[in-house]
Amino acid sequence: MALIVHKYGGTSMGSTERIKNVAKRVAKWHDAGHQVVVVPSAMSGETNRLIGLAREIMEQPDPRELDMIASTGEQVSVALLSMALHGIGKEAVSYAGWQVPIITDSAFTKARIRSIDDAKVRKDLDSGRIVIITGFQGVDGEGNIATLGRGGSDTSAVAIAAALKAAECLIYTDVDGVYTTDPRVVSEARRLKTVTFEEMLEMASLGSKVLQIRSVEFAGNYRMPTRVLSSLTDPLMPLEEEANSGTLISFEEDTHMEQATITGIAFNRDEAKITVMAVPDRPGIAYQILGPVADANIEVDMIIQNQSVDGKTDFTFTVPRGEYVKAMEVLNESVKAHIGSGNIVGDAKVSKVSVVGVGMRSHVGVASQMFRTLSEEGINIQMISTSEIKISVLIDEKYMELAVRALHKAFGLEKA
Ligand code: ADP
Ligand code: ASP
Ligand code: MG
Repeated sequence: MALIVHKYGGTSMGSTERIKNVAKRVAKWHDAGHQVVVVPSAMSGETNRLIGLAREIMEQPDPRELDMIASTGEQVSVALLSMALHGIGKEAVSYAGWQVPIITDSAFTKARIRSIDDAKVRKDLDSGRIVIITGFQGVDGEGNIATLGRGGSDTSAVAIAAALKAAECLIYTDVDGVYTTDPRVVSEARRLKTVTFEEMLEMASLGSKVLQIRSVEFAGNYRMPTRVLSSLTDPLMPLEEEANSGTLISFEEDTHMEQATITGIAFNRDEAKITVMAVPDRPGIAYQILGPVADANIEVDMIIQNQSVDGKTDFTFTVPRGEYVKAMEVLNESVKAHIGSGNIVGDAKVSKVSVVGVGMRSHVGVASQMFRTLSEEGINIQMISTSEIKISVLIDEKYMELAVRALHKAFGLEKA
């Protein structure tokens, strides 16, 4: 008997019929003698609908109020799943984040989990109940509901698994594992049996939304065995088979089976590029440009500063597209006030494509192969950034899918 956490995403919870299937699957694990905690997301489309309602009232709603409404989708899901379990004769109880409680900080819409009290959940599990806890949400020190950012139910599940010292966290979703790239963009993408924690971290941070990045961080920090698998298979399929399906995140590099140079390709459509032109090339200039951007809570990603000509340089960086307008406003004010010169130009139609793989450490020539492939497709590279296990390029958004497909082929990632 083991304690297992299951997470079901929006599509998996997308209709009452699907919820009944989730109940059958969960009941199967419970019948096999396991203690099961289930962390569902809102039904698919629901979080978008709720945020849309808020935006009909005003464009920039107060983040606390936004969380108040966005968090309700998960409350519907837990209750429906609990009822579906009762319907097939299982004892189950549902909780909202604040009832556990899952304590977060007060960074509404992107809160971080601080602690999880496991006492109530353990008591329920020990008395034979299946426990269902809302994903995506918690409560801050003042009793306000806070959400963990889009896709945050993954993080709730892995954090709950860590707090309960679960044997495994199973992330059930609408694909049957982690692929070499998004299978919806490249139909030849291949499922990976295992992916190293470091690679998964890079892929998630570079845009593969199959797992929210913080869930991967939790998995790494607590060494929580985490598996991504399909919720769309027959819920009554043999448990043994299901338990070994999907993709396991591994923590040991030498278990990396697929000794390829590149493991996968990640992309992020929604980037924006900003250039502050002809700023004086002197100490402190990067801080003067980026300080106010950071103070406005806007995340900066790729950065380049050009060679200076006549003591002047161009300074370029990227921000998430959703923050582009705000970043431009902040810069227009701060650059004028502190730097004086500097024409600010931007492009909100750029995307980032990255190749990821621990194999890169021991192979040379990955960058040149990447650049050659893009040049053969006539795709211009606007910015480049690298780490030990990834190379990212910024390109015009209209070439993004073409770039992903061409790179996937060039690095031999297709199905055998
Ligand atoms: P859920 O609602 O279950 O959380 P998400 O939509 O958040 O599901 O994540 C699953 C989706 O992630 C898949 O449908 C797929 O389109 C996308 N995805 C992106 N990159 C990958 C990848 N490398 N492997 C698998 N899926 C990926
Ligand atoms: N329902 C939330 C969202 O749509 C959380 C999640 O699905 O993980 O972002
Ligand atoms: Mg998700």
